[in-house]
Amino acid sequence: MQPSIGTLVVALGLLGLASAAATGRTEARGEAAVTASAASAGSHCCQILKIAMGTKISLPNTAPYNQSTGSFFSEQNNAITPACVVSATSTRDVQEAVGILSTLSLVGQYSGSGCQFAVRSGGHTPWAGSATIQDGVDIDLSALNHITPAEDKKTVSIGPGNRWNDVYLKLDALGLGVSGGRVASVGVGGLTTGGGMSFFAPRYGFVCDTVTEFEVVLASGQVVVANAKKNRNLWSALKGGSNNLGVVTRIELEVFAQDKFWGGIVVYPVSTAPQQLAAFVNFNGQSKFDEYGALINSYGYNKNQGGWFVANNYEYTKAQEYPPVFTEFTSIQPQLLSTMRISNMSDFATEMEGSTPYGRGQIFYTATYANDLETITNLFNEANTSLQPVIDVEDLVWSLSLQPLPTQITKWGDINGGNSLGLHESSGNLVLALISASWPNPSDEEAVTKALVGAFDKANAFAEKKGTLNSYEYLNYAHKTQTPITGYGAENVAKLKAASKQYDPHQVFQKWVPGGFKL
Ligand SMILES: Cc1cc2nc3c(=O)[nH]c(=O)nc-3n(C[C@H](O)[C@H](O)[C@H](O)COP(=O)(O)OP(=O)(O)OC[C@H]3O[C@@H](n4cnc5c(N)ncnc54)[C@H](O)[C@@H]3O)c2cc1C
Repeated sequence: MQPSIGTLVVALGLLGLASAAATGRTEARGEAAVTASAASAGSHCCQILKIAMGTKISLPNTAPYNQSTGSFFSEQNNAITPACVVSATSTRDVQEAVGILSTLSLVGQYSGSGCQFAVRSGGHTPWAGSATIQDGVDIDLSALNHITPAEDKKTVSIGPGNRWNDVYLKLDALGLGVSGGRVASVGVGGLTTGGGMSFFAPRYGFVCDTVTEFEVVLASGQVVVANAKKNRNLWSALKGGSNNLGVVTRIELEVFAQDKFWGGIVVYPVSTAPQQLAAFVNFNGQSKFDEYGALINSYGYNKNQGGWFVANNYEYTKAQEYPPVFTEFTSIQPQLLSTMRISNMSDFATEMEGSTPYGRGQIFYTATYANDLETITNLFNEANTSLQPVIDVEDLVWSLSLQPLPTQITKWGDINGGNSLGLHESSGNLVLALISASWPNPSDEEAVTKALVGAFDKANAFAEKKGTLNSYEYLNYAHKTQTPITGYGAENVAKLKAASKQYDPHQVFQKWVPGGFKL
């Protein structure tokens, strides 16, 4: 699983070509002409990639480069300028790019000239540099977007570059469902390898728990499959292992028969917050959890919309209106708006897209607590107190979301072959808390970040004292200053490190892929 001698020789040969190019000569392979210009630290890597991969490599100030680098969810990521973008259209492309980059890095580490790279699927992670890299090489998987349901309708094979809504549109038409993200344009690759919360979580667990097989390009450029029978430790490690073990190029997910179901959003005034918080704890602590009920309980603030409000997502993944499990919530009055209806997954995901616009500064920060009313009430109060110093930030959107993480969800990891998350039925009923904020003016980032992190500093100190703080920090919601992998617990970190040593012996994904959360 080390880079083959062949790859090494080819890359060394290419290095020779590159140094010739650096003198001002132009080398060409097919249509790929490379003009030497040491524009950035990664430019020599890009020159070599361009020689090997031609039009799959795009350089700054070209349409494909601008399209890729300008299509991240957060403005912080759109501001990053990699030296080039690899637009992979096949597993073979990923193999070639990773093989070359690994080899160059292993050779270059002795001269301080390796190739740092980033792996990007949907590009939805808000923090700068999670899935892109300044002056390095972005491997953009957007075009790995096949969606192929198996003939027996038990699984679907999907490319990591898909957006969830494309998957839903295809499966809705077939009367099939799949666990996936709840907002239409969120990417498949990052969400699945980081965990994945879906409306179907009580029925099937985290999205990663429904993966029956990964296809992975290892640091060596070798492609392997990982499933319950083959490379089983890689399969379970990747369920939460993010980009630490290789580049996932194909994901097989379980599918199930799924008709239209009941769901939507109900908006209330913030004066209902005490009732909402109590209803949340009761929902999360159901003695016999109704597996069809999914909830996101959100407290949002935006001055242009009149300040604080409560906006809840209720989804009952059956065509049954107003099921008893939501009665405590749906009887809260007054209700300012309701979109509750029977519809399909793609319609609900499209509705959710409306409240998460692109083109703004973004931050996510997360924590996990025991299902305790006093703890989440305190978090709500801290979210409000910490907002005050930044309340006048132009068009600030500030939102606290609470999601149930009961044993009905966490039990599935162990049932389905294990994952890396460190959550088990024995973890008890938990609350997944997220505060997100967005703003249009880049100069406001520092103040908003300080305020938001401050809310969690205080809320976590309170919870720690009360014994209700859980070490789990959901990787897909975590801020760059958080340590979600440490939160998986020592045993899982050890398993991830062992898998990393086995499948990436030269630690390419630890040393040369600095974005994301490392082991
Ligand atoms: C508006 C919005 C809505 C969201 N809704 C949900 C939701 O409903 N449920 C939920 O669980 N989360 C949700 N999230 C969080 C989401 O899961 C993460 O942002 C996730 O990383 C998005 O996946 P992506 O493919 O866009 O990731 P990217 O930003 O492209 O990548 C994220 C990380 O994963 C790595 N990575 C990506 N693809 C691969 C791959 N193929 N192989 C190896 N590593 C890879 C990247 O290197 C990077 O470090 C939401 C986020 C936003 C901004």
